[in-house]
Amino acid sequence: MEASNPDPDMARQARSGASARGSCLCGAVGFAAELPSKWVAHCHCSRCRRAHGAPFVTWAGFRTEAVTVEDPRSQLRWHVADEGGMRGFCGHCGSPMLFKSERWPGELHIARALFLEPLDRAPQAHVFYETHVDWAPVDDALPKKSSIP
Ligand SMILES: [Zn+2]
Ligand SMILES: [Zn+2]
Repeated sequence: MEASNPDPDMARQARSGASARGSCLCGAVGFAAELPSKWVAHCHCSRCRRAHGAPFVTWAGFRTEAVTVEDPRSQLRWHVADEGGMRGFCGHCGSPMLFKSERWPGELHIARALFLEPLDRAPQAHVFYETHVDWAPVDDALPKKSSIP
């Protein structure tokens, strides 16, 4: 039923409550990220490359509090890297999903490709581009930066 809602609190929630959902490959770990996102960027660092088995990884940055992780079977695992940073992945299907680090306090980074619903922005930049591989040419016009926006 699409009746208008007389409760002002509910109406406010509906207006500000736009979010985008996604999940790992097997669906065991899902998430809902409240929009707006902070940024979306292609990361060319060597750690992302190896963690995801891909030439670069497109990340969407959110405030940590804006993300709700749905993990009813407790499948989310975290790999803690010696050089700093934690990578969250599904323990059942292995999908790399999340990244957080003291270097970006208060932020949670979500692999863009896991979203099943539209995000509020397109990728804005290539970051850590100085370590990009030469076997996956980048021919777009986005800025190429050395760090995250
Ligand atoms: Zn999974
Ligand atoms: Zn990276």
